[in-house]
Amino acid sequence: MDKDLTDQVVDIAQRVVASGAISANGHGNVSVRVPGAEEMYFTAGPSLRNHPASAVVRVGLDGTLLEGELPPIQGAVVAMHTAMYADHSDVGCVVHTHSPYATAYAVARRRIGCWVEAMAMFGLADGVPVAGYGPRGSDEAIANIRAAVTPGVPAVLLANHGVLVFHRTPELAILAGGVVEEAAQAGINASALGGAVEIPPELRAAALQRAMTFDSRGTVHA
Ligand SMILES: [Zn+2]
Repeated sequence: MDKDLTDQVVDIAQRVVASGAISANGHGNVSVRVPGAEEMYFTAGPSLRNHPASAVVRVGLDGTLLEGELPPIQGAVVAMHTAMYADHSDVGCVVHTHSPYATAYAVARRRIGCWVEAMAMFGLADGVPVAGYGPRGSDEAIANIRAAVTPGVPAVLLANHGVLVFHRTPELAILAGGVVEEAAQAGINASALGGAVEIPPELRAAALQRAMTFDSRGTVHA
């Protein structure tokens, strides 16, 4: 096992927990693509909370366990991760959690709309689609995920299960997972007030444009 990649996966797990976009039991898994190889490093521990380096495994993108020990519960969801790397050459990190509010939408089998401005700013202007149910990690579940993934959209809800986020870097994947959870919480809170209102499509583009303009200026110093 490569120590740097192992430590990176453990660090991502800690940062996902710190982000708060995680269920109370810490269930979930994260992985990173091994640069230049058809492999990933994957958390094989039962929880992302205090995930030990000794429980990180190396897995081929064909699903073959190459190094470490993979318990059956974690082994069942390996294909959700490998499919994202196989399908999207730019994806470098995959995060799966049962973050509570996003999972509520997944359980209700309802998409999350673009009703929080951060969604327009971080690649979720089209909302978060729902992948139809299939037993976790099964061929059917993976086919449903592949069918639901929208080009350029870094997240998908897994019906009756949780949420899957995939992005170029761990930082972006953690960020997107947090935005999805924030939007889901806002959506549920707004349902008591008559329901969330989506940002009109043309203004979603304007929100992104404004964010990019400010980003290109960098930090302003007094
Ligand atoms: Zn899960």
